[in-house]
Amino acid sequence: MQHKAELTRVVDALAHRMTPRTVLIPSALADGFDYLCPEDVAPGALVEVNLRGKPVVGMVEAGCAGSVAIEKLKPITRVLEVPAYPKKFRDWLEFVARFTCAPRGSVLALTGIKQAMTPPKKPLLLEHFTPDLPDLSAHQQRAHAALYEADLATPIVLNGVTGSGKTEVYFHAIAELLARDETAQILVMLPEIGLTHQWLARFEAAFGTKPACWHSHVTPAKRKRMWHAVARGELRVVVGARSALFLPFAHLQMIVVDEEHDTTYKQDDGVLYHARDMAVARAKFEGARIVLASATPSLETRYNIAQNRYQEVVLDTRHGGAKLPEVSLIDMRTQTLDSGEFISPVLREAMYQTLAEGDQVLLFLNRRGYAPLMLCRGCGHRFMCPSCSAWLVKHQAAGKLQCHHCGYHAPLPKECPSCGAGEEKLVACGPGVERVEEEVRALFPELAGAQAIRVFSSDEGIDDAAIRAAISGEIRILIGTQMLAKGHHFPQLTLVGVIDADMGLAGGDLRGSEHTYQLLHQLAGRAGRAGKSGRVLLQSYAPDNAVMEALAHGSHAEFSSAELAVRKLGGWPPYGQLAAIILDGPEEESVRRAGFALIHTAPHDARIRVLGPAPAPLSKLKGQYRYRLLVKASRDIGLQRTLSTWLENAHFPRVRLKLDVNPYYFL
Ligand SMILES: [Zn+2]
Ligand SMILES: [Zn+2]
Repeated sequence: MQHKAELTRVVDALAHRMTPRTVLIPSALADGFDYLCPEDVAPGALVEVNLRGKPVVGMVEAGCAGSVAIEKLKPITRVLEVPAYPKKFRDWLEFVARFTCAPRGSVLALTGIKQAMTPPKKPLLLEHFTPDLPDLSAHQQRAHAALYEADLATPIVLNGVTGSGKTEVYFHAIAELLARDETAQILVMLPEIGLTHQWLARFEAAFGTKPACWHSHVTPAKRKRMWHAVARGELRVVVGARSALFLPFAHLQMIVVDEEHDTTYKQDDGVLYHARDMAVARAKFEGARIVLASATPSLETRYNIAQNRYQEVVLDTRHGGAKLPEVSLIDMRTQTLDSGEFISPVLREAMYQTLAEGDQVLLFLNRRGYAPLMLCRGCGHRFMCPSCSAWLVKHQAAGKLQCHHCGYHAPLPKECPSCGAGEEKLVACGPGVERVEEEVRALFPELAGAQAIRVFSSDEGIDDAAIRAAISGEIRILIGTQMLAKGHHFPQLTLVGVIDADMGLAGGDLRGSEHTYQLLHQLAGRAGRAGKSGRVLLQSYAPDNAVMEALAHGSHAEFSSAELAVRKLGGWPPYGQLAAIILDGPEEESVRRAGFALIHTAPHDARIRVLGPAPAPLSKLKGQYRYRLLVKASRDIGLQRTLSTWLENAHFPRVRLKLDVNPYYFL
């Protein structure tokens, strides 16, 4: 019987001109399976196949593995009625898999290929652009001209301070491309948090219609409609977070990566890619123009400019003549504060003054909750998360202790679990935004009643009304985490006070200084926009630190050269290559042993150094013990290939291995 079925299949295959081809499946588990495909199916075509009894979408590859005899192969179920993935796109996907050392199937999954299985119920309403853009200033015109004169193969870095009109410059470029090429598709990437109503309203005002947005909150039905319209080349402009980069555009002609320095472009789960770097690569494969925009270009980008790989276009004047804020440091070592107080007398005075003039104040502290630590004064006990090596954060309003890593929470304790001391011995250490709010309410009792003081953090459930009240100036004092640093413009804002400017400088994070600079610089950009000059006060215990000095001088170039010199000296990126190996598992001993086993098989090459294994700074996370190794290599070595060879057979029972090429997170 069996034999007869096989024979029938071969006869069928011959009659229908079927040929064996590998079909890549969007999964980390396999590199694809051979199926019988009609001969005229092109590589890149999306097909439905039966995989262990389940219908699955896959992509047809150029060849076949040939490891299974032809008479054992099953035919594909059907060819899906969507455009095949173009060769340029497939080549880029291969590149991403190689670069990140990720399974090819996992990279394929990022393209949203499952959307191909069924067509959308109704088509997407397509945009009709009627660009009506304001004229560019002389400065912007020069930048715009430079953008056109540059060689298409060279990424352009649009480097301009906040408010210099970078957006207008690339809006003009988009409008011209839309007019010039009827089939051109354009992708604008923004950090997820930057996809604000204000940005979208700006786009709508310039183009007469809203752009199609691709991010994590898009509904499944809309997602499907967009995916099909992108693949058919019907959707002209897509604005999205990093995942939009993996959409199967039919004719991608321009990519804009706005806020290119933003760390959220690095994916920290699954395929660990950096969306900016992969966007540069995609533009190259597609033959598209790429523009990287930032007020504080990343050190990698600065390096590429210095190496003549990228071309820099500088926009150095604030559009409309608004002045840059004056940044000054408050040396906290000279300030007298009572315990539990975090706003220095100098900052307090500046707040009084600003409010008296009818302006708005923003206090920044990148710490959610009331206090980052609770401790018992009786015995020194610290309240830790049971599953992570992390302190529990006190959230006063919610009446909870909360772990910010795993979501564990417990009611506020009534007594010390270690010595039994009562509530009066339990103290909150350090400030969080809730605690600063408490201090502000005590300082400004006349504002405390109305909705004039408000905390903005991810715990607060910030709605559009709150954002509107902040923009209109109805909220006089904004207290917030980094969600306030990005995207929004507050026209009444003239004073920004940074509670703890040193945060982020401590710790072993390679990019700590860079991120601190970028975040504080971005905050400074919030102050003094609509014609009014603003000021920024940084409370610091280390005012002579290079980051603080560069901020006070307002010079990103100064900061970058100092930081690049440090990186060069240590052979760190961008002067060298870096990869992290993170091992985790439920038993500490097996994780530690796996780390040492890896050291024994590490590649012997003078150009590679393997550091570790060492317990990760976050040595326990969600009940898993964690160890890290860091691989440092010179630029002239094929790091990915070396790593793949080394780790190919590294399998340890009850230990998971994660490889992060060019890591951004060091916890
Ligand atoms: Zn105690
Ligand atoms: Zn936890």
